[in-house]
Amino acid sequence: MLQRLFVFFILCRPINVPTNFNRLVSRRCLCTTLTTYLTTILFLSGCGKSFKSEALTANGNVKVLLLSNKQVNSELEVEEANPFEFKVVELFNIYDLVSLSGKYARFYTNATNKENNLKGTQPIAQFFKSKKGYFVAKNNFSLELATLYYHTQNLALIDQKIGANQLNLLPRKIVIGTKISNSSFQENNAIYDGGMDAIIFLNYTESNLALPFNGGIFAHEYFHSMFYKAVQKGLESNPFFKENSDPSESKIDLNLAVPKFEKNKFIENSKMNPHTLKKDLSLELNDIKSLSKQSIKDYYILLLKGLNEGIADFWGWAYSQDKNFILHSISKVPSIRTLDLKAHELRIPELVTQNMILNEVMGTFADQEEKSAYINYFSYIIGTRFALFFKELVTVISKERKLSTDEASTIVMKSIFTYLTQLGEKLVKHDFNQSKVDLISSQDLIFEFSQVLKPTKLPECQLILDTFNSDTKNSKKLSCLIKNEIYALSAPQEESASEK
Ligand SMILES: [Zn+2]
Repeated sequence: MLQRLFVFFILCRPINVPTNFNRLVSRRCLCTTLTTYLTTILFLSGCGKSFKSEALTANGNVKVLLLSNKQVNSELEVEEANPFEFKVVELFNIYDLVSLSGKYARFYTNATNKENNLKGTQPIAQFFKSKKGYFVAKNNFSLELATLYYHTQNLALIDQKIGANQLNLLPRKIVIGTKISNSSFQENNAIYDGGMDAIIFLNYTESNLALPFNGGIFAHEYFHSMFYKAVQKGLESNPFFKENSDPSESKIDLNLAVPKFEKNKFIENSKMNPHTLKKDLSLELNDIKSLSKQSIKDYYILLLKGLNEGIADFWGWAYSQDKNFILHSISKVPSIRTLDLKAHELRIPELVTQNMILNEVMGTFADQEEKSAYINYFSYIIGTRFALFFKELVTVISKERKLSTDEASTIVMKSIFTYLTQLGEKLVKHDFNQSKVDLISSQDLIFEFSQVLKPTKLPECQLILDTFNSDTKNSKKLSCLIKNEIYALSAPQEESASEK
């Protein structure tokens, strides 16, 4: 049922995980934490006294014991085996603690979807009230529901701060405890489905941190909803992408089923694995006018999915402050998803260039399925570079403006939301046929974003400039010029024009 809809996946190609990443996930630590939790439940409920009525009638702002990300002051602190802890948090505006429904979230189990009409039964959670006045989940499922409500509430409050609450209406819909049929991806993944506007958690079978407890992964999926509503939905309605005469053509939804990458020979043999990305693979496309309509479509699908996945990873990092947040749950996550410049042997977050992307879309594929799987895979490579850029920007803004990481993240997230809204408005009416002579590049996206961000410190502008210039084939010579205390990337001769 999900294949026709707009879904996004958090997974990428499973490759061998370096040994130093394995130490980040300590099953022993997590097991110890969960054992302590269960012991606490037994202790607190051991007297046999029934607290049933209190959990049944609880509503409003409710205190609950949850497993969530540790509060950290810096990224260094989070580089430990198990950056999660039990803590008492307040869930706001709960209507009913049994189904965990409230202002911020509504859950669906055994869900069905008919023409984007989501139906399902509400879950039944079980809690008891401790002597200290907070509620404690009696089982894992109840703990998952309460944790998801907490993450939804936090991300919705971020939406409010950055203005995205006008797009993401409440309560957010979350599907859990539902077996997905007719699909090759049935477990260990989370999905955002644009048609239903719902986040879907698939069954989790690994032995690490279950997906609902992973706030970074939830934030990643949560972001996809903003991109879908601000950019993707409008783009679909653009005649250039809408008119698919050939049913085998790539479609803008790009929500290609998470391919089983290890079985995709094209990817295995690809020159574009993370270790060769640094090499110059660009074609000399002197005559860009010769691009077919399909190549232009594939180019934009890949670029925009890359932007989408990249910002989603940035959202996951900004929320969890954990550069390897996916790895705590999914062991086969590739090392290219880590949000650390050093791990990529980079000084600046070099973007994947226009020619590199064109190289990929013009590759030879056996069939459409193989091509789709490869485009899906490659979009995460493009995405990680965007994510690294936004993360570095937070670091520079935090340092230069003497703000906390959270405050600097909010500034960047707000600019991203404003920028994506503008981008969506532009793309919905963009004449892509004209784009044969002027394709929008990763660099162009960063340039336009910088005009929304309005850097107030030179190092902020310098980072944007260095990232922009990472495409050495780009002929534009820009520099950071200041006017009215705002820096802008400008060609020297265009100084006056660029700062209107
Ligand atoms: Zn994703």
